[in-house]
Order: sequence, then C-alpha cells, then structure tokens
Amino acid sequence: MSRWGAAMSEALAAARDAGAAGDVPVGAVVLGRDGAVLATAGNRRERDADPTAHAEVLALRAAARALGRWRLDDCTLVVTLEPCTMCAGALVAARVGTLVFGAFDPRAGAVASLFDVVRDPRLNHRPQVVSGIMVGPCSAVLDGFFADRR
Ligand SMILES: [Zn+2]
Repeated sequence: MSRWGAAMSEALAAARDAGAAGDVPVGAVVLGRDGAVLATAGNRRERDADPTAHAEVLALRAAARALGRWRLDDCTLVVTLEPCTMCAGALVAARVGTLVFGAFDPRAGAVASLFDVVRDPRLNHRPQVVSGIMVGPCSAVLDGFFADRR
C-alpha cells in the first residue's frame, strides 16, 4: 500500500457511507503535519440540501475548526475523486499543502481533467498534487452507485 493508502481507505469508507445515505459517494480526509487524521467527511449535498456540501469543503472546514486557523498549508487533503472547480478553489483559499486524489473526473474535474485550478501560476498558492491513488476502488464506488440508480 502506498504512503497515502491508509488515508485513502478512510476517505473511501466516508464515500461509501455517503452513498449508502443517498449522496454521490465521494469522501475526503485531511491529514495534519504529523500525518494524523484531523477531519473526515463524505458528500452531504442531498442530505443537507446544500450545493456546497461537497466532501472536500466539509473536511477542510472541520480541519480548520480543529486547528483553530483557516490556513492549512501544513495539511494534506486526500479525496476519492478529482475536485470540482469549487473545491479546487477552496483548496487554494485554504493554502492546502498537498492534494491527493483517486479517480479522475472527466466531466467536472478542476485539477487535471477540465481545468487545473490548483497549479495555475497566476494564483498565489499552488498545492502539490498526487493523483491516481487507489484509482480502481475510488472509481468502483462511484460506478456502483450510478449503476444501482439506473
Ligand atoms: Zn467539489
């Protein structure tokens, strides 16, 4: 298992919980400087009727609350799916040090697929990006969710 495997497994568990509750199964974990888990969240858009309740935003908010500061430059966000434009913007706003994601999102991804918001040289902060971690299970949880709905 890679360096990020344990955190991605936890993000996957949060994704599965979200899917079981009727939300698109995406999960995110924020690791602190020492690698300990600061926050875990799943997508809650349906449950909260909140268009901004993506897993990444919820995990960043919880991690910032835990640390008592908005700046997360010593933190790593681990997420099962490539972030969208909103979440990529939130990562930059939080000054997240490292982003790790699993599956690519060819329809909405804003870190590689459609845009590259987090590495745009015009912005004042650029997280390190590690992609394709546990891409098989990260894709499978989404594919299974949408297959069940058809
Ligand atoms: Zn998002």
